[in-house]
Amino acid sequence: MSLDVDGVLAALTPAEKAALTSGSGFWWTVPVERLGVPSIMVCDGPHGLRGVPPDAAADDWAELSLTATCFPTASALASSWNPGLLHRVGEALAAEARARRLSVILGPGINLKRSPLCGRNFEYFSEDPVLAGELACGIVDGIQSRGDVGTSVKHFAANNQETDRQRIDVRVSERALRELYLPAFERVVTRSRPWTVMCSYNAVNGVSASANRWLLDDVLRGEWGFDGLVVSDWGAVYDRVPALVAGTDLEMPPLLPDSPDAVVAAVGSGELDEAILDRRVRTVLELVSRGMAVLEADEGFDADAHHALARAAAAESVVLLANDGLLPLAAEANVAVIGEFARTPRFQGAGSSYVPPTRVDTALAELRAALGDVGFAPGYRLEGAPEPADGTDLVAEAVELAGAADVAVVFVGLPAADESEGFDRVHLDLPADQLALLAAVAARNPRVVTVLVNGAPVDLRPVTTHSAALVEAWLGGQAAGGAVADVLTGAVNPSGRLAETFPLRLQDCSSYLNFPGDEHVVHYGEGIYVGYRGYDKADQQVAFPFGHGLSYTDFAFSDLAVALSGSADDATLAALVEVTVTNTGDRDGAEVVQVYVADPDASVHRPVRELKGFIKVALAAGESRRVAVELDARAFAYWSEQFGRWVIEAGEFVVEVGRSSRDIVLSETVSVDATPVRSPLHRLSTLFEWDADPLGRELIAEAVAAGSSDPLGDREKLKAFGSMPLASLAAFPGVSLDLAALDHAIEEYARRSRRT
Ligand code: BGC
Repeated sequence: MSLDVDGVLAALTPAEKAALTSGSGFWWTVPVERLGVPSIMVCDGPHGLRGVPPDAAADDWAELSLTATCFPTASALASSWNPGLLHRVGEALAAEARARRLSVILGPGINLKRSPLCGRNFEYFSEDPVLAGELACGIVDGIQSRGDVGTSVKHFAANNQETDRQRIDVRVSERALRELYLPAFERVVTRSRPWTVMCSYNAVNGVSASANRWLLDDVLRGEWGFDGLVVSDWGAVYDRVPALVAGTDLEMPPLLPDSPDAVVAAVGSGELDEAILDRRVRTVLELVSRGMAVLEADEGFDADAHHALARAAAAESVVLLANDGLLPLAAEANVAVIGEFARTPRFQGAGSSYVPPTRVDTALAELRAALGDVGFAPGYRLEGAPEPADGTDLVAEAVELAGAADVAVVFVGLPAADESEGFDRVHLDLPADQLALLAAVAARNPRVVTVLVNGAPVDLRPVTTHSAALVEAWLGGQAAGGAVADVLTGAVNPSGRLAETFPLRLQDCSSYLNFPGDEHVVHYGEGIYVGYRGYDKADQQVAFPFGHGLSYTDFAFSDLAVALSGSADDATLAALVEVTVTNTGDRDGAEVVQVYVADPDASVHRPVRELKGFIKVALAAGESRRVAVELDARAFAYWSEQFGRWVIEAGEFVVEVGRSSRDIVLSETVSVDATPVRSPLHRLSTLFEWDADPLGRELIAEAVAAGSSDPLGDREKLKAFGSMPLASLAAFPGVSLDLAALDHAIEEYARRSRRT
């Protein structure tokens, strides 16, 4: 079943065309019954389906009556470092979409984590664009694998905060955009071809994303070849016709009747070329044609199997941050479970991503199922939790329980009111009552395993001091309780790695001085130094670095080999990185091989190291395997603002293999050949620049009278005057170079460099 897109387009009236470029109600496209064009549904996303029934009223966005599997949120899934796992989750999401005839899932959210304060970080993957991009490909490929359910990769672009999210103007350098904020989108668009991209609410360098021609037309469609549909974020179109012209195909939700009327009027007045409208309508029709397959679907989904997958995914996402040997829990240990989160779980964030779950596991019940009748004390209160009996001292009760146990497993985390779409956090603190409980329990029994329940980093200083073992469980979806039990008991060997740094203090974050901006403007003053790129460059201590995560077994890396091929000049440069990984312990487990690249001799500022590839490898106890990670030319390049393109500088690069950005195990230096790129020399080029260019050097030598006054001849003076433009120097008395001779040298330079 598909549409005759050309035929329909030719038969549409201008009013019908205009109508098609705005939706029909909150979640549907506009049908054109006389031409057999159905309405398809597009709805949230990203880690489970929103509860809107397919037959909800057009203006009903709040109804959430359908349940769906709530998979782990993005910050959890990202910690698996396993695109294959995200692929499986994607397939399950598509099955649930098919079952309710939903054509496009609004997700994944792949914005970079610029600040740990961003309220939606739980919906995003990472502070690193390579990791975020690879994971995005995994889930998009999974959702789209049967070709009948599509995705909406969001929010394009630079939507890194919730504060003032609809008006904020993100002022960001092109280099930071190209190196950090765009590459995850680029990777998923070019490789996995998502059906749609959702443009963001914010403005980027003065132009709102929905009307940003540079973003939507030049970069997304022009450079990356995107041929799908651009949908606005819900309410992100502020000026209908410019948005349509810039490349937003579908306005959601529709502003009726104003939007279609404005489009018809603009065509009538000649302000909008009908050919542009036709392009947008064609894209909408192509989406409907793809998405209408599910309208005929008659499939259910296996809720038990999906719950089991959600549990496996959550377990693979758990990060063991620290362990002095308490974990895994011994089968015979007398365990006290403390903390209301164990009984009243928090497993997802708030906002448009909210999923009414099919069922919910609690860690308490799952630990009891695994270990027998463990004791429980809530320790603190949470909204919606059972009320304690009058006069109960929650802390004293918990301390007493801990005192009688071998091990206290204490759950602490962020309350729901702290993390949501729509606002940012203002601090990284865990609630004071929970921290006081943890300290009191540890004072009585230091054998404390702390389990963290949160969607984004928190200040761990008051936690690490009281924890013999520390487990980051994230917002792990509806089966998180079982997953935590699996990891604590050793049924699952933890293999999660941090997809974002845990800083020691908020003040250490490079965005601290510029977050969330003032007067509707935020300056990304830290440039390319976001996340570990910033902490590493400033040599700052962190609580736990990017990439960190422990296992119940040990792994060794050996025999690193790096083979270069291709050429930097035509961007065919590639590196094959091979290393042997051995599970040296006595348990099966999985390790993440992280490949970083450093360019220590760069002529421009570059991060200390950047993740350029990775692979997760499962190894039985004692097993060894040789694994390979391929790097492309981009792994060596930086974005040059001066030349407006990617540049690879000749010289030595260090290819590193490690367990985190702070734990590099093996490295190899490789030498890359590349023709230097130079800007043409002109009057304001400095002595240094003339001197650095062999041809420039030669021409100046020719231009000056032989002898003492050659401005490039005296190395001592060059040190002091090197940053002076030659034209300024030419005016100085005693320098045997005048402007006429300089201009002649400039002409000669242009002529001779054209020839070579
Ligand atoms: C969010 C999007 C979401 C949309 C529809 C917006 O407020 O930013 O992520 O897909 O609403 O619910």
